[in-house]
Amino acid sequence: MDLSEATANRGSTQPARAPRWRGAIGIGRGETAILKMLSPLAILVVAATLLCGAFGFLLARQADDSFERANRQALRGAIEALQALSPDLVNVDPNAVRILESASGLKGLRLVEDPPPGARDVHSLIDAKGRIVGWFTWEVERPATAMIAQILPVAVLAMLLLFGFAVLAMRQLRRFASLVADSMREVHRLAFEDADTGLPNLHRMREVAEQALAERQPNEVVAVALIDLGGRDEIDEAIGEAGEREVFTEIANRLRRDVPAGVTIARLRDDAFGLVVRAPDVGRVLAVVEVARAGISRAIWVDRVVQVNASAGLALAPRDGATREELTRRANLALLVAKQRGRGLVVQFSPEMEGDFDDRRFIKRELLRAIAARSFDVHYQPIVSADHRRVVGVEALLRWHHPVRGAIPPSLFVRVAEEAGLMDQLGAFVLRRALADGARWPGLYVAVNLSPVQVRDRRLVDLLREVLAETKISPARVVLEITEGVLIDDPATAKVRLEELRRLGVRLALDDFGSGYSSLSYLQRLPFDMLKIDRGFVAALDQSANAGVIIQAIVTLGRALGLSVLIEGIETEEQRVVLRLAGCNEMQGYLFAKPAAAEIIERLVANGEPLPLMAPPAAQAKGRPGRLEPFEGKAS
Ligand code: C2E
Ligand code: MG
Ligand code: MG
Repeated sequence: MDLSEATANRGSTQPARAPRWRGAIGIGRGETAILKMLSPLAILVVAATLLCGAFGFLLARQADDSFERANRQALRGAIEALQALSPDLVNVDPNAVRILESASGLKGLRLVEDPPPGARDVHSLIDAKGRIVGWFTWEVERPATAMIAQILPVAVLAMLLLFGFAVLAMRQLRRFASLVADSMREVHRLAFEDADTGLPNLHRMREVAEQALAERQPNEVVAVALIDLGGRDEIDEAIGEAGEREVFTEIANRLRRDVPAGVTIARLRDDAFGLVVRAPDVGRVLAVVEVARAGISRAIWVDRVVQVNASAGLALAPRDGATREELTRRANLALLVAKQRGRGLVVQFSPEMEGDFDDRRFIKRELLRAIAARSFDVHYQPIVSADHRRVVGVEALLRWHHPVRGAIPPSLFVRVAEEAGLMDQLGAFVLRRALADGARWPGLYVAVNLSPVQVRDRRLVDLLREVLAETKISPARVVLEITEGVLIDDPATAKVRLEELRRLGVRLALDDFGSGYSSLSYLQRLPFDMLKIDRGFVAALDQSANAGVIIQAIVTLGRALGLSVLIEGIETEEQRVVLRLAGCNEMQGYLFAKPAAAEIIERLVANGEPLPLMAPPAAQAKGRPGRLEPFEGKAS
């Protein structure tokens, strides 16, 4: 099959069912072959039977003719012999006729005066003067023909029966063959087609990609693109299985409609589609993939509005690889990058991604060892009140010191741990350690970061309940930090989980607000107590006056919604002054303190030792951050 076949019904708005690829594996050929083999056989049998019949009939006739000739000959000889004895046979007595009869072998021999009109089976009796004085007639005997005449009806009947049986057998065979062909078609459909949408599946896409690569012209590129839906869980929970099928059927129809002919669209997994594009240049490929991505991401109405935010990664031949495997692997890498950069993007493969990938592979391998060897630690970064700059809490931050690579930042390994399914273990470790440490620091709250993977896991609530009981820390002194990622991917589950967590008495903070899509509606819909404005805004303060205006607006809004607003990443005194004026409640950043080991925080709590500073000298001189008054108030 060529690509145009896969997309032949693309223009249709029908929920088009499967294009079928009969030719591809020769479905129906078995049926035709059997019939082709049997039909001439049946004809041959019938023809041979007829031929044998006709031949037998001819032989029988010939045998009878020669039998008759011999009898006539014998009669003639017998008459001559008899005439030699008694020349006047006119008054021959019946005994002489019986003698002739037995001598000639002719049955029913009679002597008559006139021959029956038109009779062939007669012989004249001539007297001494040469006159015909009578005629011998007899009953013609044709035994072979008679035998054939006797056999013929039986043979014809047998043949008719045989023929009827053959017809019935053929019909049954045909029905059976068509059943077999149907089953083969079904097997083929299941093997090469997605059951829900009728689109080609992964196997088919592989075939098409391989074929396209084999046929690629010098002035052509062949691209493999992978599209990940994102938000699949939301679809599941919101509309159930039947609705989900409707959504995917609609997505498939859109793709058939929007994507130009010659492009193969496949459904690879529940929430992943793939494209094989042949185009003259990269620009054209990107346009096609973006059309497909945008089509998938448009809102769909199934009882309610369902919307996903699809990302796409692509790799193309000859630039990124020559084989299907290479292109798929690299398109997958590009897709991972697209998802990491924030959803809704189309990303092309680039060689650095492979380096990142190898790095991630290394980290994943080492993570497993580090978990087994318990090589992780938790550091704490103080959080200060905006007004008096007293320490009111700490944020627990995971630390990993690798024996060879040294400190590996959480921004690198947390994502790998999430992908590798290791975040549950790491998250549980941080929660246990942070709450146990926090329990010893009565004046402070302890904030713990939760990964989206942990929030999705319903066991998180039990874990928190258990750790709260174990450590005996007051839940009011525990803040759980959640990033927007979890809300975008699956708001419904997130909402349920956050409410369950909050019922245990802990507080919830929306972390890194402003770094991603930042929908203000989350703040309204979800039970947050605290808003942590991303440090990106603070860094932007130095470059743009607008950043200040935006921060001001977010702070005002957050406070109006009754949230405590914290700004992260404050590094200079100028920033602190501006942000304090903006009206935020709490601050965190190197200006006040860098993350430090539990013992340092311990000493700080016990003896009021100065915080571990990280601010540039100028900022320190201006703001004298070393004079922070830890634990002045009785924050609880
Ligand atoms: P985050 O939760 O926003 O944590 C704040 C990050 O900003 C920390 O980086 C902190 O060291 C850094 N930071 C604080 N003040 C300043 C400043 O003034 N300037 C600059 N440039 N940076 C500042 P860190 O420890 O590298 O953590 C990075 C991210 O990794 C965290 O961002 C958090 O998303 C994640 N993370 C760290 N620990 C955990 C954990 O235990 N669990 C989970 N799920 N994620 C964690
Ligand atoms: Mg945080
Ligand atoms: Mg943050």
